[in-house]
Amino acid sequence: MERHSSQEHVPALRAEQERLAARVARLEADLDALTRARRGSVDDDEHDPDGEPLSARWSLLAGLLESARADARLADAAMRRIEAGTYGVCASCGQPIPEGQLEVRPFRERCVSCTE
Ligand SMILES: [Zn+2]
Repeated sequence: MERHSSQEHVPALRAEQERLAARVARLEADLDALTRARRGSVDDDEHDPDGEPLSARWSLLAGLLESARADARLADAAMRRIEAGTYGVCASCGQPIPEGQLEVRPFRERCVSCTE
């Protein structure tokens, strides 16, 4: 049986971790700035000068931040599975996850058939 080294995924996963960490930090900063902007405009807290409702923008950013954090957690979990030697093995059926599926979604814990 061909044993695929999960170590070869490490550079891509690390790059993805860094990308996600930067994304989380940027969204946190944006949300922070927006929170201050809302506080600074008590008289008209629903609209900024461009006419975009701040609350709508806040919800959008909060949603993006939430999903970025979820992705970051998946990336961390994938790195732990590499360390534990369980990366690339489906968490449901225990079969190796096809390489092509890992290329599309390097953080996946389950093969496509178990995900569906
Ligand atoms: Zn499976």
